[in-house]
Amino acid sequence: MSSWDHCLLCGAKQIKPFLEGVNADDPRAPLIPIYLCQQCGIIISAAICQSAAQNFPEQNYKNNYYGEAAAGRPLNRLFNALFQTERQQTSLARVKPGKILDVGCGDGTFLSYLPPLWKKFGYEPSPCGQAILKNREGIHFFDLASPEKSAQEQSFDVITLWQSLEHMPDPQNTLNAIKNILKNTGILFISVPNCGSLQAKIFRGRWFHLDPTRHYWHYTPKTITRLLENAGYHVVTIRTLSFEYGVFGWLQSFLNLLPIEINLFYKILKSRKVVRPPSKIVFCIYLAAAVILLPLSLALTLFEALILRGSVLNVKAVLR
Ligand SMILES: [Zn+2]
Repeated sequence: MSSWDHCLLCGAKQIKPFLEGVNADDPRAPLIPIYLCQQCGIIISAAICQSAAQNFPEQNYKNNYYGEAAAGRPLNRLFNALFQTERQQTSLARVKPGKILDVGCGDGTFLSYLPPLWKKFGYEPSPCGQAILKNREGIHFFDLASPEKSAQEQSFDVITLWQSLEHMPDPQNTLNAIKNILKNTGILFISVPNCGSLQAKIFRGRWFHLDPTRHYWHYTPKTITRLLENAGYHVVTIRTLSFEYGVFGWLQSFLNLLPIEINLFYKILKSRKVVRPPSKIVFCIYLAAAVILLPLSLALTLFEALILRGSVLNVKAVLR
């Protein structure tokens, strides 16, 4: 895998190896190096070099990445209903419905759960996500990368990025494009994995939310604040509690310590490809371990958020 000798965000030459992450799609592949800029503190996955010619390598978003094959299962529908309610409460509590854009909206699940009072727009760069989005009623596709977006200048009341800014090859460019279409009184809401969280520090290269193949940028409270302020935003709040990301992050990361394929539980839930399926007996032991670890994962989710080291950075920002 290729590398670079300067920070892709601030240009400083002081970058050093930080850790190595497992490629969850192919655990037999070489580990992916991740670097830390000693100047600005940003943490960058070397996978970003592979995508230099291709912003969103399509193979990374194929193979049922959005869990579309499993979306109709009762358990998945229950989880979706719970998690989308949590997302709405986190980002839109006490916000008057208006015009909303979800950037990196994937298959449009977040928008689809919003009440019809909202005028809903979604932007998704991956063709796989776009194909699912086309079949969603009531969601308009908005091309953030197109010059025609100028017709929508300062027109959105709310713009959200749910676990998508870490996938963007050029986050500064994305934040600049958003600045032009957000109303002066509008709200920007960003949720990204917290690389400064307790679970990130403990599990390091096997942390479930690291996903170094697709997550190019790994943020901490300090680096996301700096990125937003440099782009002309003012950070209003940063919160780190998420039951959706926290509990599963702990649970799957604990399971990733076992000598079994990484993210196996997640892959089964989402009907994603398992490279080395375990035997029935090993799988039963794995499931039993998951049941035992669930209450502990819930308790740790509350604890890490209490000490402000939760699994995500839920950031509310406004234009300066
Ligand atoms: Zn830097």
